[in-house]
Amino acid sequence: MLDQASATTADLWARAERAIPGGVNSATRRIGRPLVIERARGAHVWDADGRRFIDYHAAFGATLLGHADPVVGEAVARTLVDQDLVGMGVSRLEIECAELVNAMIPSADKTILTMSGTESTFQAIRLARGVTGRDLIVKFQGCFHGWHDAVSRNVISTPEKAYGMDPTSSGILAPNLEATLIAEFNDLASVQELFARHKDRIAAVILEPIPHNIGALLPDQAFLEGLRALTEEEGALLIFDEVITGFRHAPGGYQEICGVMPDLTTYGKAMGNGFPVAGMSGRADLMDQFSSAGGSVLLAGTFNGGPASTAAAIATLTHLRTTDFHQRVFALGDRLRAGLAAITEDLGIEACVTGYGSVVICYFMPMRPKGYRDLLEHHDDKAYAEFHRRMYDHDILMLPMSLKRNHITGAHTAEDVDQTIDAARVVLTEMA
Ligand code: PLP
Repeated sequence: MLDQASATTADLWARAERAIPGGVNSATRRIGRPLVIERARGAHVWDADGRRFIDYHAAFGATLLGHADPVVGEAVARTLVDQDLVGMGVSRLEIECAELVNAMIPSADKTILTMSGTESTFQAIRLARGVTGRDLIVKFQGCFHGWHDAVSRNVISTPEKAYGMDPTSSGILAPNLEATLIAEFNDLASVQELFARHKDRIAAVILEPIPHNIGALLPDQAFLEGLRALTEEEGALLIFDEVITGFRHAPGGYQEICGVMPDLTTYGKAMGNGFPVAGMSGRADLMDQFSSAGGSVLLAGTFNGGPASTAAAIATLTHLRTTDFHQRVFALGDRLRAGLAAITEDLGIEACVTGYGSVVICYFMPMRPKGYRDLLEHHDDKAYAEFHRRMYDHDILMLPMSLKRNHITGAHTAEDVDQTIDAARVVLTEMA
């Protein structure tokens, strides 16, 4: 059921629903009320009625520098004057971009460019199967790695389906789903148990080093180190899916922060500040198993390394590497977390305000969750959705769906954050 909309939005939304299934091009963009976006600039978006929101959705975190960043826009415009897609050889832009990623990401010897995070995790998993000759992979309950078959199970699961078979889509063959095993984040024993049960069959363990698709579960250092040692001992690859954490939390991704080096790393989202560019890096001996280097694992994609997106990536990554970007957004993240925590404490609401750096989340539960089990047992999902829904009514764009995190961008200001805290005080007081 959708809420009421003004005449302009209602008209456009009706057209959208007639022309596009559900009116949107990705299911989670449907937010329970009609929303037609007209403009996005800096930390703000405007709907078709001219209503302005402070945006913490930030295209699922893709617009890390802020919407329509002028430096990125200029780099793309300059590139388009001279070049579009050729499809043979390589461009200077692709070389420069790969060199930049290899210099920034500690575990990266070589890098490929793709069009989306989904393609990157697909390539990483296929490469892992190709080089190990094994069939199974391990993912964690709650982590999301895109929409291809190998990872399409057990993201946000109900208590009845968690850890069991919980596909995110119909239309996937059972053997594809069954080749993916499910473990509990921050619980090394759950992974050890899978390796013991499936001796010499696990090709890779894939994880978001901070599972941001269920907010922000902070990893125990011993867990990450344990995964590194275990995969090495068992002859499996460790894949860090840094599609959200990559470049956002540090120029070298979360691996720079935790010091644990995966074999393969995937990126996307923030890499091109909203342009469709993503990538995958790893050790040279693994990356050279792609068919482009004479190996047996197919590397293909018409739009891979396209000039506009690659120029956007170079401009974005250069900015992240050469400015105090992370310091600034981390400080704003701390400001928002402190403001929200003070309110929930004043009002006596059972909440855990947490996150990492520029990612902020207010869980409605009495303690900090360590794994999915804690969320199942303690999180009040209805209160969470209600908080985000009511913030929308105060012109703060936070998605009213389960466990969607909020993102601070390089365009947010202390004034935006303070305005958000003021709105949260009103909303949480109403909810208390
Ligand atoms: N990996 C993670 C951690 C993600 O959060 C996502 C998307 O949300 C993906 C992979 C898939 O990326 P894309 O939507 O670009 O295909």
